[in-house]
Amino acid sequence: MTKPTDLMSKIMSLCKRRGYIFQSSEIYGGIGGFWDYGPLGVELKRNLKDAWWRDMVTAHDDTTAPDGAPAPYGMVGLDSSIIMHPQVWKVVGHYDVFHDMMVDCRTCKARFRADQVPDSECPRKPSKHPGEHGECDLTEPREFNLMFKTNVGALYDPSSEAFLRPETAQGIFVNYRNVLDTARVKVPFGIAQIGKSFRNEITPRNYTFRSREFEQMEIEFFCHPDQSQQWYAYWRDQRFAWYTSLGLQSSRLRLRDHSPEELSHYSCGTADIEYAFPFLQEGDFGELEGVAHRGDFDLKSHMEGKLVRQGDGFVLELDADGNPRYAGSGKDMSYLDDQTKERYIPHVVEPSAGADRAALAFLCEAYTEDMVPDNKGDLQARTVLKLHPRLAPFKVAVFPLVKRAGMPEVARDIYRELKRHWNVYYDEGGSVGRRYRRQDESGTPFCVTVDGQTLDDNTVTVRDRDTTQQDRVAIADLVSFVRERIERA
Ligand code: ATP
Repeated sequence: MTKPTDLMSKIMSLCKRRGYIFQSSEIYGGIGGFWDYGPLGVELKRNLKDAWWRDMVTAHDDTTAPDGAPAPYGMVGLDSSIIMHPQVWKVVGHYDVFHDMMVDCRTCKARFRADQVPDSECPRKPSKHPGEHGECDLTEPREFNLMFKTNVGALYDPSSEAFLRPETAQGIFVNYRNVLDTARVKVPFGIAQIGKSFRNEITPRNYTFRSREFEQMEIEFFCHPDQSQQWYAYWRDQRFAWYTSLGLQSSRLRLRDHSPEELSHYSCGTADIEYAFPFLQEGDFGELEGVAHRGDFDLKSHMEGKLVRQGDGFVLELDADGNPRYAGSGKDMSYLDDQTKERYIPHVVEPSAGADRAALAFLCEAYTEDMVPDNKGDLQARTVLKLHPRLAPFKVAVFPLVKRAGMPEVARDIYRELKRHWNVYYDEGGSVGRRYRRQDESGTPFCVTVDGQTLDDNTVTVRDRDTTQQDRVAIADLVSFVRERIERA
């Protein structure tokens, strides 16, 4: 059986070889925690984000309650700026509490996350955990704020200090009133956003899993406080089902409720959707998405100022003079139900997913080594990425069997016709067997081959990536054949 670490090395090597993922600034030796998506990777990630946007926003039916939802609801989208007014981060607590505990080694100057010291490696040889070499001299754990700082404008002083957003969520909260006033939405409704977030992680690790620049796909769902638990349950189930619908096996995926000690300062309930990544120990899972019940914490904070917990609720945090420690906007964030005439601050359920972690999970899940017969019927080992067709970078590859007898011309015509519908790859280099292998490693679900028979009867073979079975299909029926197979997947 392949060990998880070996499996991960194989996946990473395939991702490099096929142009899925490259190290950022590789020609200069790379930079820790930053990654680039190559020609295939960018398509996979785009397809993933498009699938999320379509399934959560544009295909959502505002008029009917989906299965498990307590009522129909609206969904709209947003694209807010990465750098926002610095008060945003002060008011919601990131400025004060968005930190990890870190430990430095005074001897070798390496830095570790305090909670990861037992699993980290000291840079000295032979390889040991930090603190285990005689020369190790570790500091006490200290707070380290994860927000990247920058300065806005020409002046480089504290008054121009700003932050790269560590989450997309706050862009939604500060626009809640704008959306309410312009989009004709009524509570319950959700605002969705996809965008880059930045966290100066102390120890980026496990490939793209923990990066310093990454993309989030977040929904802030605004609802009546009395219905918030039902909506929380709905979103947990609905988001879990989304991953399985795109091919993550439920045996490697789990929904885990946070214990009370684990909950973030704002949350009254959080569940993580987790995946058993191959770089983890057997039985361990890594977070793909958090679904949090945030109550009215964010809207109230933006209205009143930074809040602190008191008993079961929150109160305004005051400074030594009795003034708000960080003042809110003072803008009214309440909602008036025009039917019941009730005015309240909506509660929020937040499904917050990472596009990079999801892409990595789909790549890990898709990576398969199997044996398939070659054209002589002999079994050959192959590596194949069994990506869901919606996620696959190319849906179809088109080959002429040979580069003569008019086959390339027919194949290119088919390629152009299919390109009107999907991303399609044309390849006439090398034996058909080798071309199939290239597409298997790239994750292309269907390969169309133009052969001698095509010239007689206008049919082609369509080879299925997963089963390697071939169907003979009339060129005129090709688009509907492929569409039906993609939709059936
Ligand atoms: P973790 O505990 O793994 O640091 P988190 O609980 O801080 O994650 P959230 O703040 O809930 O993460 O962010 C929502 C989602 O954003 C995560 O589920 C994950 O998919 C993604 N994400 C967060 N931090 C990173 C990161 N450093 N690199 C890649 N994706 C990330």
